[in-house]
Amino acid sequence: MMSGIYIHIPFCKQACHYCNFHFSTSLKYKERMFQNILEEIDFRQHYLSKKNISSIYFGGGTPSLLSPEEIQQILNKINTLFQVDRNAEITLEANPDDLNQNYLEAIKKAGINRLSIGVQSFYDDDLSYMNRAHNAAEAKNCITFALNAGFRDLSIDLIYGTPSLTDEKWIAQLEKVCEMPITHLSCYCLTVEPGTALDHFVKKGKSRPVDEQQAARQFELLTNMSEAKGWVHYEISNFARPDHFARHNSSYWKGEAYLGIGPSAHSYNQKSRQWNIAHNAKYMQAIESGKPSFELEELTLKDRYNEYVLTSLRTIWGCDLKEIQQLGDTFERWFLETVQVFIAQNHIMEKEGIYTLNRSGKLLADFITAELFYGE
Ligand code: SF4
Repeated sequence: MMSGIYIHIPFCKQACHYCNFHFSTSLKYKERMFQNILEEIDFRQHYLSKKNISSIYFGGGTPSLLSPEEIQQILNKINTLFQVDRNAEITLEANPDDLNQNYLEAIKKAGINRLSIGVQSFYDDDLSYMNRAHNAAEAKNCITFALNAGFRDLSIDLIYGTPSLTDEKWIAQLEKVCEMPITHLSCYCLTVEPGTALDHFVKKGKSRPVDEQQAARQFELLTNMSEAKGWVHYEISNFARPDHFARHNSSYWKGEAYLGIGPSAHSYNQKSRQWNIAHNAKYMQAIESGKPSFELEELTLKDRYNEYVLTSLRTIWGCDLKEIQQLGDTFERWFLETVQVFIAQNHIMEKEGIYTLNRSGKLLADFITAELFYGE
């Protein structure tokens, strides 16, 4: 089995109002952070039981704040310590305002072969509502630049459910996207996470809250579009052209091991899960003192069952009863008993022991997985 490496770059130029990821808008310690990230890769080279790496993912924060030289050095370090597959998927998450022609050509040369671009919307009013650092023209232009630089694996992120996004705008945007030579599309519903600026604005009455019916309608429009235009809806929020599934994300959903580097990054080795401290200064101090700071959780059978149901049911590969049987009779009995009601309601279908969400079930995915979770 192959494994993946995730590198978290914890800096952003400005804070998007809805975001609850770990990042800092002060770039003062960027160079020191970069050295610490290299150091952590050294420290943790034995975390994965197998050294074969099939995907490397630069996430954040904003990884496109790294220079091509920094990307090159991180990849060199990984290449010296691990066995990176010749066809490994090497993705950089990028924001449109960082992507000019020269930068794109240089990072391609450094080894990046897939881009995941945080477009979020092609409309200026949606972008300013979210407080994104780019505008609609930059969102459009960066795709052309990426193609000119020779990138063929292009993914974009879009957000729906934004109060300023009418159904008409959403449909027009999706149609435009289908004409673009992109191979992968991730669409997330805007959520108001506690403690974010958006949460604050909604509570103060300065922003409209997310309308659940609008969000459900826009998810339905998205599903219709994906079926009509030949996208493979392979995970609740992810759509791909055939043969362009995101390898890195797919390996998370399939329960494969991965090593996470950088502040707040998670790692998983099939027995335990651990996460680095989500604080830039403390992360750097810990690495510099030779003792990386993280929390570790050994996974119980119940954790493994719940995680398996949560991730597998959201995918096209579905939830395999054989996997649940390996965790023991208790879980098998619980699953078979609780899943019946959703089969009867036609939200889940079963074929040869594989359970998948059908169209109506996808709309209720969060509720259904919560019901299937094993409680004491
Ligand atoms: S660029 Fe990404 S990580 Fe940074 S604030 Fe915006 S959504 Fe969050």
